[in-house]
Order: sequence, then C-alpha cells, then structure tokens
Amino acid sequence: MSYTIEQVLIPVESGYTTAQVQIEGDTIAEIIPTTSLNAPPNLVKEGEGTTVNGENKLLLPGFVNAHTHSSEMWQRGIIPPLPLELWIAELYDFTPLEPEQVYLSALGTAVETLLSGGTSVVDHLVLIPGQEIETVAAAVRAYQEIGIRAFVGPLIQDESLSEGIPDGNAKREHENYIRSTEETLALMREVVEKFHKPEAGVNILVAPTGIQLCSDALFEGCIELSDRYNLCRHAHLLETKAQKLLAKEKYGYSAVEYLKRIGYLSDRTSLAHCVWLDDADIAILAETRATVVHNPLSNLRLGSGIAPILKYRQAGVNVTFGCDGAASNDSQDLLEAIKMGSLLHNITDLDYRHWITPRQAVKMASLGGAKGLNVADELGSLTVGKKADLVLYDLTSLSLLPRTDPIGLLVMGRPTNAIDSVWVNGERVVADGKVTRIDGDELRKELFERSQWTVNRQSEMVRKLEAHYRQVMELPE
Ligand SMILES: [Zn+2]
Repeated sequence: MSYTIEQVLIPVESGYTTAQVQIEGDTIAEIIPTTSLNAPPNLVKEGEGTTVNGENKLLLPGFVNAHTHSSEMWQRGIIPPLPLELWIAELYDFTPLEPEQVYLSALGTAVETLLSGGTSVVDHLVLIPGQEIETVAAAVRAYQEIGIRAFVGPLIQDESLSEGIPDGNAKREHENYIRSTEETLALMREVVEKFHKPEAGVNILVAPTGIQLCSDALFEGCIELSDRYNLCRHAHLLETKAQKLLAKEKYGYSAVEYLKRIGYLSDRTSLAHCVWLDDADIAILAETRATVVHNPLSNLRLGSGIAPILKYRQAGVNVTFGCDGAASNDSQDLLEAIKMGSLLHNITDLDYRHWITPRQAVKMASLGGAKGLNVADELGSLTVGKKADLVLYDLTSLSLLPRTDPIGLLVMGRPTNAIDSVWVNGERVVADGKVTRIDGDELRKELFERSQWTVNRQSEMVRKLEAHYRQVMELPE
C-alpha cells in the first residue's frame, strides 16, 4: 500500500515548510518540500495509491506512550487520593480477572493513545494470577487488531505487596509471593518465545516491577533473558520517597547504584518515574545511557513528587513521556501528559533558559521514546527510510485556532478532535479521526456493559497496610 500526503505542513529547523510525503509499504519513501504557492510535483500516477489532502494539516512523527498499565482502565476515576503504596493495595484488591477484560482495556488504551498522537505503547502489563499467558495473549491480540506498535512488558515481581513498604523497626513478617522466582522466569521465557515478534509490531520487554518488590535473582534472570533474546528492559524506579527509604534498608545504598551494580542499566533500559534521584544517581543514568520515562500526571495524582526532569536534560539523560496506568492519571491522553510534563518544571528552576520548549517536548515524546526502546534508527522522526509511524493533525480544529505556531498550540494548548489520521508501519489505522480496524462504538458498548457506576468500595488490603505505612512515613496515627 502506498500513500501520498500532499501539501502537508512539516516542521523544519527554521519553522515549517509544506511538503509532499510519500509512504511506500511500511516506510517513509520521500519527503519533497514544496511551497504553498507552487503545486507539488505529481509523482504518483492515478490508481497507484491513496492520495491524502494534507492542506492545513501538520504531520509529526508518532509519540511513544512510554509507560502504562492497560488493565488499570477498569479502575480509573475510582481510587481515592492515596499515595502509591496504599493506592496499589486497593488497585490489586479489585484488579480485573478475565482475559477478555484485558483485551478490551488494551483496545481502549490503544485508541486513546492513537487519538492523542501516539503510535507506540509500552504496556507494563499486570498479569492475572494463574492465567498469565492468557493475559499476554489478550493484550497482544488487541494491539495487533487495532494496529498500534506494541511493547509489552509483563509486570513481574517475586515479593509480596507488603514488602514494598519500608520496615522501619517493625520487623514485619511477609507472606510468600504467589509464584516463585524460577516459575516467573520460566513464564517469561515462554512469553518471549510465543509473542516476541518485532517484525509484526509486537515486542516483549523484560519488566520487573522495581527494586521494591523484586529479588536480585529476578533482576539477574531478566538481564540474562534480555541479553539472550535481545530484549529491551523496563522497570519502575524511585517513584516515591518510601521506595528511596526502602532501597536504603534493602541495600544500604541507592536503588540506582544497585541497578548499576547488577548490570540492569543500559541504553535499552527505560525507567518509569525517577522522582527521588540525587545528583550521584543522575550521573549514573547519564553514564549508562538509560532512559527516564516521565509520568507527570501519575506523580501528581499519587503525590509522588516532581521528577527533576530539567536536571536530567542538563546531564544529558534521555527523557520521554508516559501516561502511566489509567488508574493513576486517570486518562490515557498523551498530549495532556506531554503538556503537563513540560510545563510543570518551570516552577522548579528560575532560569527560563532551561525550560522545555514545545519543539523539545515533541522531540522527547517521539525520538526520545524511540531511543528508550532501542529503535531510534527506525522510528521517532520524519526521516526518509524510517518506518512510517506518523500522525496528521487537523489545524482547523477550533482548539488549534486562530493560527499561530502549530506545535506551540499542540503542546501548550488543549487540542481536542485534532487528530485526522495516524499511520503505524505504513498502515492507516486512524482516518477522519476514527480508528479504522475495529468498531469504536462496539468497544464503547462493551466497556459500558461490563462495568457499573461505583462509589465507596472498601479495600481490605489498604486497611491492613495503612497503620504501618503511616508509622514508617512518620504521619500522625
Ligand atoms: Zn507504572
């Protein structure tokens, strides 16, 4: 299949230019700058492909939703204001237990990502106990059906939830986790062999949830898998102050130092959150060329803190954006995450020359995301020869008018109904603002019918953990 996008606006060094962009198969075949005054050269003979009118539209490389947990969609909007350690207890008490639900929320996550500028999603996928393979199969099926590029990291741990809270002097006893480390690694091998198919747009990542709930053996097993199958690595890192205290208790030094010592950090490692790092930690990230995935809305929602993103950028650390799971956001709007994730840091540094510009934000969300997944040579920019993962924005949407700087409007404004078309791997998966490969109305109907209006549910696990959490975090009883 080929597409010719005519008279479309693209960003260039000095501003914007009008161009004709040719997609052949899965690739950006040609970008021919024209001007709005001259008609573009007619390169495509009739009947050879589809011509798309790009007039008054902006073409950008697709963004990466570089950290989310798709099945959290079932719990968005309901968990009360709680910090991560208690929020997650409630989340797990009510987590969906049917693979069909996982399938539907993966579709929902993909639709919202595509309709807010994303062409790739990193799903740190919560597994249904006893149906782990079925969970991955359900999410992969959804992503292949809708046509988004998927990076699926089954969320694994080998310690029980209460171990994620620092002990203080409480000397608590913990239950064994439901699955042994060996079983979990065997499961991961099976997942990789069954589902890792980069050429088909499905990539498996190793994704231990983080130092707070994982043993050395689990991290080491993941490194081994990553090396053997050439897989990218993902994890949460120092999302909360509690995790920083926990790392001190567990290792006697920082979590970043720990990950460096065991060899988890590399240029294909992406780390979600990175809120509680100090200068020595930042130097380690720069040196190991690991990527930070900034999830500003989740960090705000859970009171985790403000990640020192400007410091990362000054230290040369690659930074990109994620929505995080929908239960801590409580949406999957990537443009919203990019807006918040760039503006938020203005209050952390008086020197406005360090602040993130809209163009820098776009580059972080596209090329930055690709770098973190080790695919910067294939994705992340409007470059001839790269994969055609592209988003076409309608600049006549009311939210993008009147006409000023299109990228400024897109990042700092609040674009609504702005996505005209999306291509992933050269396939047009969104046209006229609608997904083309599934029935969006049917998806809405399924999500509606499988849920109900809910208030005031009570979490047993939050009740169990709260007193200790308050004590160790030095909060009044
Ligand atoms: Zn997360």
